[in-house]
Amino acid sequence: MPLRDTEAFVLRTYTLKEADKICLFFTREEGKVRAVAHGARRLRSRYGASLEPFTEVSLVYFQQENRELASVSGCDILRSPFRSGLSSEQLAVYHYLAELIIEFLPEHEANEKIYRLIGATIRALGSEMVAPLTASVRYFEIWLLRLSGFCPDWRICAGCEADLTATAGVWLSGEGMAMCDGCSGREGDFLSGAAWVFVRQALALPPADFLKTPHDLRVVHQIGSLLTRLINRVLERELRSYEFLDRLRPVEPTIAGGR
Ligand SMILES: [Zn+2]
Repeated sequence: MPLRDTEAFVLRTYTLKEADKICLFFTREEGKVRAVAHGARRLRSRYGASLEPFTEVSLVYFQQENRELASVSGCDILRSPFRSGLSSEQLAVYHYLAELIIEFLPEHEANEKIYRLIGATIRALGSEMVAPLTASVRYFEIWLLRLSGFCPDWRICAGCEADLTATAGVWLSGEGMAMCDGCSGREGDFLSGAAWVFVRQALALPPADFLKTPHDLRVVHQIGSLLTRLINRVLERELRSYEFLDRLRPVEPTIAGGR
């Protein structure tokens, strides 16, 4: 049966022809799916705001075998992050998160945990509290690396499988493996003190609870450079949207000060 019905997040849209858009979805049932939304660029399109980035939709589409592009048949908004309006900082974050998902995840491979991670992160970003944006980005990066299989759980030594949660810190190898002092040969990046607490909390708490915890911005940025290096190494290139995200950093202290 070529007709599929699933919940999905809109990741990105591209102009196809005068009236059409290609949409990249992260669907609950089939993972990443590319589909044409016919007539989506018309002024009074039946799609309305349903194709805005990170809108969660109820999607119906046709997928024919051996065709890369599916065809959108129906797309109804379930939850929209745009309801209360978005700041340019939030938009930059969404853009970056979308690029991470696009780069890290294969086409047509469902991942329920990542689907839930996206939903939880968006809800945390859109809630009433002043969202600590970069902390939420770090949280997403840590979990995406883990759930997409690039980095194992950093709370367990990749060498001897010792529990690292009670240790003063961990050594992270260039490949993103966490190791105890003995196994690491003291090579790689040493994560200790507040930085290690930050990562441990990210791995232990749901996003809303993690973002309620106050975080030292210097630590957030320290973890950020480490994660960026790791992501660039995994993807073997730099993400385009990161530069834009990086430029937003001077805004952050004001946001943090408001808490
Ligand atoms: Zn070890």
